[in-house]
Formats: sequence, C-alpha cells, structure tokens
Amino acid sequence: MENEPKHELFNQYPRLEELANHETVLWENTKREKKVQTNHFSMGEVKEAEETLKRFSAYLKIAFPELLESKGLIESSIQDIPFMKKALEKEFDVLLPGQFILKCDHALPISGSIKARGGIFEVLRHAERLAIAKGKLTKEDNYAVLATEEFQSFFQQYTIAVGSTGNLGLSIGIMGKKLGFNVVVHMSSDAKEWKKTLLREKGATVIEYDADYSVAVEQGRREAEQDPMCHFIDDENSKDLFAGYAVAAKRLKAQFEKTNITVDKAHPLFVYLPCGVGGGPGGVAYGIREIFGEHAHIFFAEPVASPCMTMGLMTGLHDEISVEDIGLNNKTEADGLAVGRASKFVGKVMETYVSGCYTVKDEELFKSLALAMEVEGLFLEPSAHAGMFGPIQLMKNGQSYLEKHDLVDKMEQATHLIWATGGSMVPVEMREEYMAKAMQVAKINQ
Ligand SMILES: *Cc1c(COP(=O)(O)O)cnc(C)c1O
Repeated sequence: MENEPKHELFNQYPRLEELANHETVLWENTKREKKVQTNHFSMGEVKEAEETLKRFSAYLKIAFPELLESKGLIESSIQDIPFMKKALEKEFDVLLPGQFILKCDHALPISGSIKARGGIFEVLRHAERLAIAKGKLTKEDNYAVLATEEFQSFFQQYTIAVGSTGNLGLSIGIMGKKLGFNVVVHMSSDAKEWKKTLLREKGATVIEYDADYSVAVEQGRREAEQDPMCHFIDDENSKDLFAGYAVAAKRLKAQFEKTNITVDKAHPLFVYLPCGVGGGPGGVAYGIREIFGEHAHIFFAEPVASPCMTMGLMTGLHDEISVEDIGLNNKTEADGLAVGRASKFVGKVMETYVSGCYTVKDEELFKSLALAMEVEGLFLEPSAHAGMFGPIQLMKNGQSYLEKHDLVDKMEQATHLIWATGGSMVPVEMREEYMAKAMQVAKINQ
C-alpha cells in the first residue's frame, strides 16, 4: 500500500525528503543541552523504581530460579566486541576509533529483551499497588509471599492488557501470568508467530490485528477502558515503563566503575539505542544523561521505513506526525521498531537530551546479523542490530557534530556503547531463517 505524502511538509522540513526516499540519514539535534532538565520526570521516580525492584527480588528468585545468581535482579552484562568493530570497519570501509562495548539486553533474564526492564517493572508495580490497596501487603513484608497460592488467586481477579509489536507483550505476558493475572495482549501484524504461540502457552489471551502497532495499542486501550478490573500498560504514555527502563543507567554506572570505563571530557561516551515508540531508549537515555552528564552522547536508531522518532524530534511535531505522512509504509523486518508514530511524552523529554537520530536499512541489519554471528558468535534479533550502525553513521556523517562538541581528537579514547535490545528468546528455527536471509543479502551485495 502506497501512502500519498503531504508535500507541504517537505517545504517546511527539507530533510524529511531524505527520509521519504528511504535514505540512511544522521540527524543532529541542535536543541541538545549540556545540562539536562525536564519538568515531566524526575530521578526520584527512578530511585523509587529501583527500590520497588529490590523489594520484589525475594519473590523473583522464587518465581524465576534463573535469577538466583543475581539475587533477584533483572540485569544484563556489558561485553567487549572488538572483532565486530574490525568487521564493521572492513565491511563499511570506515575507521571506527574507540572501544566497542555491547550492552547485553538481548540476554536479559525472563524475556530476553529490553522490555524485561520497563514491562516487567510496570507489572510488578501494579501488583504491589493492588496488594497494598487491598491491605494484603506492606512494603516492609517479605515479598516471597507473592509466590503463594493466596496471592495467585488474588491477582486472578484482575486483568492486565497491552498493545505490542511482540517483545513488550512477551514480557508482560510472562510476568503477569506468573503472578496470576489475566493477561490480554493486542498484537500488531508484524509480531512474530513464535511470540504469540509462547504467550498462549503461558495462558495469555492474544488478540491479533491485521494492522500496525498504533492500531493494536488503540484497540487495547479502548477495550481496557470498559473494564474497571483491567490495567492497560500504555506503551505510548506510561511513566512507569519509562522509570523501569531508566533504572538501567544507575546500574550501568556501577558496571562502568567495576570495569574501569571512564566517562569525562577526554573519554566521551556514545550510546546507540534502537528506537520504536521511544519508551525503552528514552528511559535509558534519560537516566544516562542525568547520571553521566554532558559527555554522554546519545543517538536513537530507526529503520528507514519507520523513522517516527527522528521525524517527531526533527519537526517538533512528535505524535502529530506519522511515517505515513511522508509516504512510508512502516514495513520492516525489525519488528520491535515497526512504529509509525512516536510517543509524545518521550519525544518532549528527549528534545534536550539526545544528540541525534539515524536510520538504517533492513539489509544492513541482516548484514550485521551475519557478521556478528561469524566474528563474535553472537545472535541478536534484527531490531537489535540497529545500534551497530551508530559508530558508522557518526564517523561517516557526523563530522559537524564531532567538531561542534570538540570531540574530533578524543575519539580514540571514546566508548561506543551499543545497546543490544533483543534476541536470546528467538527459537532456533527462527534464527536459522534470519541467517538464511542474511546470507541472501550478502550474496546480492557481492
Ligand atoms: C521494543 C524494542 C525496541 C525499542 O523500544 P521502544 O520502547 O519501542 O522504543 C528496540 N529493540 C527491541 C528488540 C524491542 O523489542
């Protein structure tokens, strides 16, 4: 289906034309500020989220024995990927100075994607609020009681609903069902079959739409409104989700300290975050800029067919502009990023926080998928590979950004943190399918 673009938009914002032509672009945010500040959110909320997660650790260890080792904390490691850096330099014919570090959210426990941060946190917080409101729990209790039969039947009275391209539904379904909730997941057409199957096996109700993410969210929201016992997890507006994602930054700081990674004027940090509606990357970016300050440079990555956040920030229109408005169809193999309209809440906050956005082509995602398998033995889902193109975009098209921020002579000491957002739950057959596609892309490009 082709969409008729609104031509007046191109006159007003000329760079939209490049996006409309599926070009890969690096857009620099001139509104970025050294000292960040927002009235829409606070670090107090992040601290509260962190404390809530701590209270739940006793329960999580029982519900998910894989969390025993981490003492009930849902966290991922950071990892050097020197071979990937070399492979990308060669494949894309560009020098990439600095150290490549992968943030391994693809391997987050419980649901294998960045949604195991925000999504699971909002389910836990909702459960806590319900239990406290009904006098069944206090914050001083040992939350291990939540694993008992009594709490299971208590939560069974309630429903949690969500609209998703896949991974958010997966996280909320797994966590919600484990606690005893009824869970209804409204899935967009790009959601992968295996995610729906897995959710149904866990006992969640999956409603499929022959439409994109925005429609699935809207339908979910509308249905949930009619049921007072139902809590809708609103991926487009939720501050709880945002807070859960932001906790990552506090923990990252500790990981950097432990591994002697410095962030200061002489050692800039670049963070590359795959972006869908914006909540995940937005929350992480918020926390990182608040904690690491001006020497943290954040870039959001989007597929050429779905650059909703790039458009929203570039025009300042946020959720008042969609990729369909410039004739794009929002069809991408990067299913977690197949979002046509960005979150207004996140976009507004990010106006002064992010350094910019860039777009990548699906075929590049598959190229990266094959390279990572070959040189690092690393599997990430296609969406998660969007982050790998950050350093390439920055070194090829970001010269003016580097000059403006006095970074040119500091790149050898830079850290490139590539946020791997999903992949460990992808079944073997699906991985093979992705690999076959990657090989096909490689052949076409030879
Ligand atoms: C959801 C998702 C993202 C982006 O998160 P948003 O909150 O939608 O912006 C990135 N990568 C993967 C794998 C995801 O599932």
